[in-house]
Order: sequence, then C-alpha cells, then structure tokens
Amino acid sequence: MNTKIWLSSPHMGSKELTYVQEAFETNWIAPLGPHVDGFERDLALYTGAGHVAALSSGTAALHLALILLGVERGDEVICQSMTFSASANPIAYQGAVPVFVDSEEDTWNMDPALLEEAIKDRLAKGKKPKAIIPVHLYGMPAKMDEILAIAATYDIPVVEDAAEALGSFYKDKACGTFGQLGILSFNGNKIITTSGGGALVGNDESLIKKARFLATQARDAAPHYQHSHVGYNYRMSNVCAGIGRGQMEVLNERVQQRRNNYEYYFNQLNELPGISFVKEPEGYYSNRWLTTILINPAESNGVTREEIRIALEKENIESRPLWKPMHMQPVFEGTPSYTNGVSEKLFDEGLCLPSGSNLTKHDLDRVVNVFNEIMQPQKV
Ligand SMILES: *Cc1c(COP(=O)(O)O)cnc(C)c1O
Repeated sequence: MNTKIWLSSPHMGSKELTYVQEAFETNWIAPLGPHVDGFERDLALYTGAGHVAALSSGTAALHLALILLGVERGDEVICQSMTFSASANPIAYQGAVPVFVDSEEDTWNMDPALLEEAIKDRLAKGKKPKAIIPVHLYGMPAKMDEILAIAATYDIPVVEDAAEALGSFYKDKACGTFGQLGILSFNGNKIITTSGGGALVGNDESLIKKARFLATQARDAAPHYQHSHVGYNYRMSNVCAGIGRGQMEVLNERVQQRRNNYEYYFNQLNELPGISFVKEPEGYYSNRWLTTILINPAESNGVTREEIRIALEKENIESRPLWKPMHMQPVFEGTPSYTNGVSEKLFDEGLCLPSGSNLTKHDLDRVVNVFNEIMQPQKV
C-alpha cells in the first residue's frame, strides 16, 4: 500500500525542540512564561497587531472576544455560514443567537451585500447585532473594505476569524488585524501549530489585557484567591508556546510551500473539464492553507466530487468536502440565516486537496494521477 497522504499534517522546523527543551531546563512548564511572552511578540511583529494574547485554542480566543464585546444571553451575533463550527459555537456558549450570512463567489467568504440586508432586517425586527464574524476561509481574505464599511455604518464591532489565515494579507495588511478583535489558531492542522493553541489579537491594549486576565481564572490582585469576575482557563502553556516560537521562524517558508502546492495543482488540473479554482482577486494574498477546487458535474462528464474523493481515498489519499454551511447544520436548525445558494453549491461541489507544507512532488503527482485517470481515461 502507498503511504498515506494527509490533508494537512504538522510540519516542524529545526528549532521547535530547542525551545521546548529550554522550557524544560528552566522548569517553565506553566500556562505562562518567557516563551508565551516571546510568542506573543513574534505574532505582533509578524501581523502588525498592536497586542496579542496567546491562548489554549482559537475557539477560546473567539469566546473571549465575544465576552469582551459584551455579548450576552439573547443577543444576536452575525456569523459567516460557510465555515467550521468553531466560528459559531462560542456564540452559543454565551447563550446568544447566531445569525448566518452566506458567501459571495469571489472569495467564498461573507457576502457584503447580504450582510447589509441581514443587518437591516435584524434592526427592523428590533434587534441590533452585537458583533459580526467574517472568516478568511482556507486562507483567502474576505472582502474586508466592504465588510468594515457596513460595520461602521451600523456601528457594529467586527471579530475576524483568521484561524486559517495566518500569513494571509489583504491590501498588504495581515488578516486578523482589521476588526476590533481577531483570532488565530495553531491547531495541529493549521498552517503552523503549537499542537493546540490560539491567539486573540487587537489594537486596544485594555481589551487584550482583560483577555489575559479572564484567561487565567480572573484573579484579582490579592495575596489570597479573590475573584470579582467569572474566569476561564484559556491561557497557552509555555511548552506549547516554545513550539510556536520555532514555527514562527519557518512561517514564511510554510506559506510559500502551500502556495507552491496550489500552483502545482492549478497547472496540472485547471484544464480538466468542470474543475475550477478560487483565484486571488487583486490586492488579496492567500496563504493557501488548503487548496480547494470545485467540480461541476454538468461540465465534468458527470464526474462528481464524491467520486473523486472516494477514488483518492482508495489510493490512501485524504481529501475532504468543503465545510458544510452552518445554516445547514442540525445543531443550528431554526437559526435565522440569510442565504443566496453560494455556500450550498460550494458544499455540493467543493473538495479540499492534500495541502500540507511537507508534501513532496511525488505526493502531489499521486493526487494529480487520480484526477487524470478518472477524468481523462484516454490519456492513461
Ligand atoms: C480551526 C478553526 C477554528 C478553531 O480553532 P481551534 O484552535 O481549533 O479552536 C475556528 N475557526 C475556523 C475557521 C477554523 O478553521
């Protein structure tokens, strides 16, 4: 059997172990310490964010962001429908109601026109949304100018879910740094990983300081354990941050490797009937966390996304359908949503291809060969 090709597996550089060893040697095995401070500095420097809090996950970062913006029981929060469930779950943690907004076709992210329609309709129904959560899906920046303009018009804060977009830029500014708050993820499958981790970024120092306070059980300044807020255990450990510091040293390389994967797939597959790729609009720079394609069965001689996914699986190659939109998820049934058919089509026709920064040309060719065999039988 051929070796397994994963969708997106961790890819360590040469320095991570050194940093982890340093944490062991100095006995900083705690949810704070010099690597946590260093990792926060590295992230601030790389993204240009004013302030960064390193946390236990991207989901925790999003939860704290909503708490900091005062989202409470019964409030409404607008969220991109086409995303991973972790974008929406923290809304439910707060007892608030997600309001889902569909995508546009250029970037597959929140449709600004539909966002405005949704806001107007919620206002007409007597509720002002407390926040807007756009997502930079698969690393492709959302239409931030348009989204920010609408958010400003209606005076609603933006929390950017940049979990998949560290290393992506919109008009030369890092994804995650546009909203009042932004979140990053360092889960095992993301562009860089700390084995598990996340960060909250923002320019308002008081918000980020408050996030650190809430993330460490909200201890008041007293020699005994004194609490005047409900706290959380959401801080990143110094060991994980050591991995993160090593990963930051290779982040640009990782982005380049993933962009090379995209280029290779694009050149090899773009001519096949019915296959299309999401392009970078002018001014958009995607880290190409995952290379994603659409397979239109009306043009592919009837070949479907599922046929391709199963054929890849037979060759021991992992691929995945695109995210199933949140407005279609059983857990969010009955939630208000504003749809236009785009995300449902993406879910029907979309496939994520193996995209790890550690894939070899031989790995990529194994993927390409499966497509050629299914879609161009005469060429085999
Ligand atoms: C991974 C991911 C998250 C959650 O990050 P974790 O660190 O896994 O909690 C949130 N949103 C999106 C879009 C993601 O892909």
